Amino acid sequence: MWTAILLSAAAMTAIVALRYLASSGIFALATNRRLPGYHAKLGKQIRSEIGWSLASAAIYGIPAGIVAWGWQERGWTRIYTESDAMPLWYLPLAPLLYLLLHDAWFYWTHRLMHRPRWFKAMHAVHHASRPPTAWAAMSFHPWEAITGAMVIPLLVFLVPIHVTMLGLVLLVMTVMGVTNHMGWEMFPRALVHSRLGGWLITASHHQRHHEEYRCNYGLYFRHWDRLCRTDKGLSERI
Ligand SMILES: [Zn+2]
Ligand SMILES: [Zn+2]
Repeated sequence: MWTAILLSAAAMTAIVALRYLASSGIFALATNRRLPGYHAKLGKQIRSEIGWSLASAAIYGIPAGIVAWGWQERGWTRIYTESDAMPLWYLPLAPLLYLLLHDAWFYWTHRLMHRPRWFKAMHAVHHASRPPTAWAAMSFHPWEAITGAMVIPLLVFLVPIHVTMLGLVLLVMTVMGVTNHMGWEMFPRALVHSRLGGWLITASHHQRHHEEYRCNYGLYFRHWDRLCRTDKGLSERI
């Protein structure tokens, strides 16, 4: 049993690491085309972003691997595979719930990590990326990585979700994590500056967090920032 758990944790770590290298690699290449020279002089920073991110891959992979083993072998979690296990209307609701809950957790832990004492110990690594690049997606100090790594493995025990919708949540998490740091906006202006765009976080919003530190703490949505008056709007540089 322990060997199987260990193998699952190792396999998941490898998957998370490869997912990071592939997704950040693709958007780093896109950045080279969109903003030629953006990565010039950032070689040392990028190497450190990749190092921290690969360490984070293990921190994310181990709990995910243990839960995946328990799901397969012991029937843990509320992940379901039969399409009729829950009403059809619940199918798209689950990923929205996951994103909203993850966003709330991220907003409040992120704000805490900006308190001076916690900042140094947990969050300074992430802000050492100046400016951030696509490789900074998982560039976290291990303490910060732990706070992020437990969210989905805990939520799958609490909130039912179809396995494909869980895949969608992970896809959104990966793509937004990378693109919010790459230094340019990939979404059309018409969306970013629309009413709907005013509630969503994309690169233009998170870039401002990296510019000014004490604002724009959210992950996917802007309602917490707006409610708590920490929303300073979009970066004017990208
Ligand atoms: Zn960031
Ligand atoms: Zn921050």
